[in-house]
Amino acid sequence: MSAPTPETFAQQLQQLRHDLIEQIRQQRGGKIGRAEAAEDRHDIQSGDWAQFDGERDLAMALDQRETAELQAIDAALKRIANGSYGYCGDCEAEIPAARLHASPTTLRCLTCQERAERASGETHPTL
Ligand SMILES: [Zn+2]
Repeated sequence: MSAPTPETFAQQLQQLRHDLIEQIRQQRGGKIGRAEAAEDRHDIQSGDWAQFDGERDLAMALDQRETAELQAIDAALKRIANGSYGYCGDCEAEIPAARLHASPTTLRCLTCQERAERASGETHPTL
């Protein structure tokens, strides 16, 4: 197996994001679509309307867990873009590729993740 590149994970994350949004749409019987999400915001006369992102608005309508998953995916994509992806946010060690494959949105190496979970009771969604 060749060494995975950030681009590999970007593709995996884009796919996860797409699947998650698709799954949410189906769960809600397609009731929350881009048009409806846009309607909710229709009264907001904002200068950055041109930056409107239907998927982001849709994310606001989701429950917390789904939103957290989408945010984790977006955050991971941002880290790929700025070159910090694959490094532990706490100790800056390289996160093993196997761990990234299993959980591409992970922020920390296993050691730091376990420490953080013990400290805060926080759990990271297992994908
Ligand atoms: Zn670490």
